[in-house]
Amino acid sequence: MYGFGLAKGLMVTLKNFINPPFTTQYPEERLPQHPRFRGEEFAWYEERCTGCASCAKYCPLGIIKIVTSPSETAILEGDKYNIDVFDIDIGRCMFCGLCVEACPYDALFMGSGFERGRYQREELVIGVDELREAVKRPSSWFRPQLEEAQYDPHTGEPLAWEEVGREQWPWHQGEKAGARIDWRPRRGGGEPPEDGA
Ligand code: SF4
Ligand code: SF4
Repeated sequence: MYGFGLAKGLMVTLKNFINPPFTTQYPEERLPQHPRFRGEEFAWYEERCTGCASCAKYCPLGIIKIVTSPSETAILEGDKYNIDVFDIDIGRCMFCGLCVEACPYDALFMGSGFERGRYQREELVIGVDELREAVKRPSSWFRPQLEEAQYDPHTGEPLAWEEVGREQWPWHQGEKAGARIDWRPRRGGGEPPEDGA
């Protein structure tokens, strides 16, 4: 019938005119995100990181670069390593999370944010200093210990390195977690004390 298509189209317009809007006015309005959301900025805990580079080896795109050097602080135990370079090129990252899966020490987590956009491609490389200084709100993706604790990175406090591991026994906590660096507990990141104590 002539005009039926037009009436049908107008009905859709009318329906959406009286329905409440389903768009949000970002950034003033924000939708809730799941705690397992895989954000782009990563949460890295240097205190837990041994520099093993498993994350770099497992990254299918080869976009993690790690350079270490002997710290000579624990020669008899086989020494610990300084992390000199830890670059992640998020401009090429597909947020698969395989690097997080590969980390044996619960040192690397997906981030929970999505606003680290830049105009220049080279500025999309996250370096070791940025990782060190970032406020740590790790995604609970692939981290059942965070899910069991019902941690929500979007509403909860930043987490320190002692709070994010899977250690369950006191000896384990004392001898494995944080064994690489003997810094005082620092909640949610920040600079190490100058005396290293
Ligand atoms: S999330 Fe995937 S692509 Fe991105 S750095 Fe990790 S392993 Fe590589
Ligand atoms: S983040 Fe994890 S996998 Fe990567 S170097 Fe550190 S300990 Fe190894």
